[in-house]
Amino acid sequence: MRYVSTRGEAPAIGFLDAVLAGLAPDGGLYVPEEWPTFTPAEIGAFDGKPYATVAAAVIGKFAGQDVEPDELLEMCQEAYSSFTHPCVTPVKQLYPGIALLELFHGPTLAFKDVAMQILARLYDKALKAQGRRMTIVAATSGDTGGAAVEAFRGASNARMLVLFPEGRISEVQRRFMTTASEANVRTVAVAGSFDDCQSIVKAMFQDRALRQAVDLSGVNSINWARIAAQAVYYFTSAAALGAPHRKVGFVVPTGNFGDAFAGFVAHKMGLPIARIVAATNSNDIVARALQSGLYARGAVRATQSPAMDIQIASNFERLYFEATRREALETARAFNAFAQTGSVAIPPQAFAAMSELFAGESVDEGETGRTIVATLNETGELIDPHTAVAVAAAKRVRARGKLGSTPLIALSTAHPAKFPEAVKAASGMEPGLPAAAAGIEGKPERFDRLPNDAETVTAYLKAFAGAA
Ligand SMILES: *Cc1c(COP(=O)(O)O)cnc(C)c1O
Repeated sequence: MRYVSTRGEAPAIGFLDAVLAGLAPDGGLYVPEEWPTFTPAEIGAFDGKPYATVAAAVIGKFAGQDVEPDELLEMCQEAYSSFTHPCVTPVKQLYPGIALLELFHGPTLAFKDVAMQILARLYDKALKAQGRRMTIVAATSGDTGGAAVEAFRGASNARMLVLFPEGRISEVQRRFMTTASEANVRTVAVAGSFDDCQSIVKAMFQDRALRQAVDLSGVNSINWARIAAQAVYYFTSAAALGAPHRKVGFVVPTGNFGDAFAGFVAHKMGLPIARIVAATNSNDIVARALQSGLYARGAVRATQSPAMDIQIASNFERLYFEATRREALETARAFNAFAQTGSVAIPPQAFAAMSELFAGESVDEGETGRTIVATLNETGELIDPHTAVAVAAAKRVRARGKLGSTPLIALSTAHPAKFPEAVKAASGMEPGLPAAAAGIEGKPERFDRLPNDAETVTAYLKAFAGAA
């Protein structure tokens, strides 16, 4: 299986090379040259199979010759044994016609673990084969950093630097990063916002000499392996609810559009999905784009669901590419224009193609809080604010009745204990950490503080790369 760039100016490369590269050299995102598919019988057979078996089947379609099937299965078994639930991503009925897909049973209690656990193992394999030692840098709005540290700590062929915006993440989120004691991991609090952290990382990647000197790599949500790994739970959950004989719909709490795009991938691979609803908080660039056809950036606002406080949904470029029938020239034009002006009008035909599968809903702060309370009172489930955005959107879609009796699956992307302040403010209940994660509470923290300045952070990275 080969991978091409959405902007058409980069040579096609293999799976593991695309994983290590992250972004394509022409600034585009890698997508598979063609979509692999499953037959309805194969999809039906996923029901009741161990999660790792389905993961190896789905990811295997994308890995092609690069990873032997037996080895991939072993990697998936190892990756998902770090989850505390035997189903890995269990489905739970919440309301009539609305089920919850729980993606937070991994080591850092958010859905980022699902992809990061397998990504680290793919890195290990690729780097060993190539005799390389890479330096991974990541900016995090909270959840990516913890999942990445947990997955890569102790890795012999990768060192990792994580930048987080000081004071803008929850204590639990911070502790998942700062309590790792392994020498190959460093965590830095930057005196700035998440966007500032991301700008610093971007500046590092644009520094060609630095890139080569430390063999720089990124594991953010545009990495193809993360998308492929996230497609897996669309199959397991849909099969549990009767696919392929019955269509299902998904409601996805959306920031960077990686998770929602993984649903598109599952659909392309043959899973009968009636609808994917991208549910945003008041940072609603994706919801507005899917409602109006105009993809236009606004100002970032801080919300109770900080992992979705994003106004550039990087993976939306992949959907644009597909919806324009893979017009790389048009995609490059559109996203260069977006970088310049902050907005791009989706061509009518492409918008119509997107609208066949996708819809957008945005949920404000009041409704998010009320949904946490109502869900607790009505079902006994305490949900986190990101999940509440999805549940609120799912209730709206259900109430409109257009999807008939098609079951809706709302993705639950974080455990409530990851956002205890917001959950308590809304519901009065203080969620406790599950036993497996409770260890982070007593552990000493280790992180450095740096100013919001790319040069200072770069010097820090060089010193770290020289030392570890
Ligand atoms: C990252 C994250 C999201 C958003 O996922 P995207 O793939 O960026 O759209 C939603 N909820 C939680 C808890 C997250 O950590």
